Amino acid sequence: MEASLFAQMISESLAKNKEEFNNLSQLIWAHPETQYDEHFAHALLTDFLSKEGFVVEKAYAGVPTAFRAEIATSDYVVGSHPVIAILCEYDALPEIGHACGHNLIAVNCRDWSHLWVPTKVGIAAGCAVRDVLLSNSQTKFPGKVVVLGCPAEEGGGGKIDLINFGCFRDIDFVMMAHPFPHDVLHCITLGIERCTVEFFGRATHASCQPWEGVNALDAAISAYNAVSLSRQQMKPDWRAHAIIAKGGTVPNVIPDHSESQYYMRCQNMEDMAILKSKLIQCFECAAEATGCRMVLSWDPKPYLPLRSNRTMASTFGDFAQAENLVYGPDPGLHGSSDIGNVSMVVPTIHPRFFVGESHLIHTREFQKLAGSSKTQPYCLRMAKIMALTAVELFINKSLREKVTREFDGC
Ligand SMILES: [Zn+2]
Ligand SMILES: [Zn+2]
Repeated sequence: MEASLFAQMISESLAKNKEEFNNLSQLIWAHPETQYDEHFAHALLTDFLSKEGFVVEKAYAGVPTAFRAEIATSDYVVGSHPVIAILCEYDALPEIGHACGHNLIAVNCRDWSHLWVPTKVGIAAGCAVRDVLLSNSQTKFPGKVVVLGCPAEEGGGGKIDLINFGCFRDIDFVMMAHPFPHDVLHCITLGIERCTVEFFGRATHASCQPWEGVNALDAAISAYNAVSLSRQQMKPDWRAHAIIAKGGTVPNVIPDHSESQYYMRCQNMEDMAILKSKLIQCFECAAEATGCRMVLSWDPKPYLPLRSNRTMASTFGDFAQAENLVYGPDPGLHGSSDIGNVSMVVPTIHPRFFVGESHLIHTREFQKLAGSSKTQPYCLRMAKIMALTAVELFINKSLREKVTREFDGC
């Protein structure tokens, strides 16, 4: 079958289902759920994919809000290849809801005539690839597409649970697209380590016998200031940021407990070890100076930097260009995502895509945009490019081999 016919099939598939996709996206946007609590989105998306003919496993890998939905060509032999996974996220942020636009990774919305039309990029792309696979009854390219529902990206490391469970062992290629203020093909996400620093002192009346106290808030402030002073010696891609989550209850009691949360990020994990040791020194010195006891707890699921597969991304970029999406030079650094961990075990791409005028994600402005009809054309286009890339991987053996060679470092 000609490639242009696949493109036409994909366009028709997206157009046919866009109303359903939009409903999904809107419902998820209106019911924001934070990490591992995405029960509404999980039920909604798995019911939809079952209805669409996918073989769906709910609560996949023992994670109640993860899912796996797959569909294969009729001549696909179980355990064979290629298997291509399109990833979805659907968790929201505390307080500000879908300010990272994960409702658009799963689905998106739009209208041409004041009717909401649905499109969730991952679901939409998965359905479009399904239509191509099922049309391929004479089977020139046996294969399987998997739509993987990944909970808890915003801090919980849901994809790390799936990796640890072995969910990517039979998957050859992974792609996911994320909404953003501008289009980015090679997204540079940083590795991240998170820790909680607690200082324990001694409470006393802050006016009657202040000399009897050991001030845990002072320790937290001292640590914070020491980290701030150390920034001059940090490399440009290093990040260290913190909040003081607990620092006492009333001013006339010297706090005997404080709790701070620190995030540290780097482009490679060798530098991360250095950054971590610098910050630990700051914490220890603060404890020493104030006489407090320190308890340091590390998040057990660090996110790794994204290793974007250039070969896959280049194919994706070619299809993007044909859809009038021309990528500029690679921009600066981004945040962090557990897609980085996935990229270490399977060839992965994670482009980001413009969804309308907005300067920043994780803001109320972006949350509002993520629920707006303005995002729809961009999401539809992204779903189409993803589906075209997936189909190209199915039909082009030499491309698959090139992607794998790059991943293996050959
Ligand atoms: Zn986010
Ligand atoms: Zn996000």
